[in-house]
Amino acid sequence: MLIICPDPTYTYECEKICRVFFPTERFEVRTGADPGGEGVAAAITQAGETLTFSCRASLGGRTAEKSETAEAAALRISREMALARVILLALGELTGVMPPWGVLTGVRPSKLMRSLIRRHGEQTAREIFEQDLMVRPDKAALALSVAKAEDAGVALSSPASFSLYVSIPFCPTRCAYCSFVSHSIASAKKLIPDYVRRTAEELAYTGAIARELGLRLETVYFGGGTPTSLSAEDLTALTDAVRSSFDLSAVREFTVEAGRPDTVDEGKLRALKNAGVTRISINPQTFNDRVLEAIGRRHTAAETIEKFRLARSLGFDNINMDLIAGLTDDTPESFRESVSTALALAPENITVHTLALKTAARLVTENARTESAAATAEMVETANRLLSGGGYAPYYMYRQSKSLGNLENVGWTRPGFDCLYNIYMMEEIHTVLAVGAGAVTKLKDPRSEALTRVYNFKYPYEYISRFDEMLARKDEVRAFYSRI
Ligand code: SF4
Repeated sequence: MLIICPDPTYTYECEKICRVFFPTERFEVRTGADPGGEGVAAAITQAGETLTFSCRASLGGRTAEKSETAEAAALRISREMALARVILLALGELTGVMPPWGVLTGVRPSKLMRSLIRRHGEQTAREIFEQDLMVRPDKAALALSVAKAEDAGVALSSPASFSLYVSIPFCPTRCAYCSFVSHSIASAKKLIPDYVRRTAEELAYTGAIARELGLRLETVYFGGGTPTSLSAEDLTALTDAVRSSFDLSAVREFTVEAGRPDTVDEGKLRALKNAGVTRISINPQTFNDRVLEAIGRRHTAAETIEKFRLARSLGFDNINMDLIAGLTDDTPESFRESVSTALALAPENITVHTLALKTAARLVTENARTESAAATAEMVETANRLLSGGGYAPYYMYRQSKSLGNLENVGWTRPGFDCLYNIYMMEEIHTVLAVGAGAVTKLKDPRSEALTRVYNFKYPYEYISRFDEMLARKDEVRAFYSRI
């Protein structure tokens, strides 16, 4: 599909809003005058202080034309967003679809809501969401609830605060919907001893920098991949390295994702408990065995429940469970049962994701059937209703591109169990020092919204073989804090 934009400033937003309607379409984006014919042509003209945003969209022989005017000084959103509005209106008319998040294509709606509240107050912030950004009222209300829920956690962070992320990019097998750079633990077996040794070294190096700079560690998060793909001994080696490298006296939360129930056993859970881990994830994704098989998860719903109960019996009193709406072979009824089963187990957090059709995922490359956007929206609505009714509240959220129905991912919590790491990371509240293959350190200047990123090598073999080169990049952490 051809997209014409006024100039290069607008190409990103124009393409993103078209992508909302056509997630798998190939776009050719050009700038300049409208040549006519099939495609989307957007333009901005200015006469004095008056701006006119216009769009002509022609698809399959049908055409819609939209235009809006605004005084430059009265515009409450960026010109890019104002142009996206007319594209949205034109494509909405042609397709009959009105995306629930309007022109918002970014991953952090609650962060935007918090920033609008700071600048304009709550009522105007909500008005800007609903009227200017064309967000559906229920989604604006969700972003507002999350923004308000995050305040308490955000208030605990100070300019010297940071969180620590440890990347374990190994999984037992690759799930059909996953595009993450995760390596099968069986094929990576040879690398594991070196990987664990190098990660412990990087933890020691990073811990020394944090001490030297007087930074205060608030939360620790082991993610992946599936950290519990490692053995109990390797997990202990890494948690020991965290304990010996960092001052944990101010740590409020220590999470390890034990995402795949087939990687969890009593020995690993005991090792995590002994290491002071306070929160784990045991992720069903669905409690329907047929769906689990369709998405390539090598565990059953019964095994998820068994591992959850085992964790409870060993004293884990803060457990998250992830569910995904829109999976292959799932239905609104079966998803409702999954949510009800999760509710009956009463984990502290339940995170409801919407399936995202990532280009590299097997589900996309093999053209597997997924639920329709409408069925997925029904699943998400059902989850929202059941979770609210079950005493859970939304406490963090994010959006992914190419998610079915352009929906969102929301973390729900029982009162008092908000995962602070999720809030800090999604709202970009403070620095995250990240360790391990594929990890990205994000350095936050407390005086601004600016983030400086320091990248580790993506693949474990590269992480190991070019370790010294990568470690040298960590010196950017010192340089950053000396600059600010
Ligand atoms: S467990 Fe998570 S990271 Fe691993 S393959 Fe499945 S979705 Fe990807």
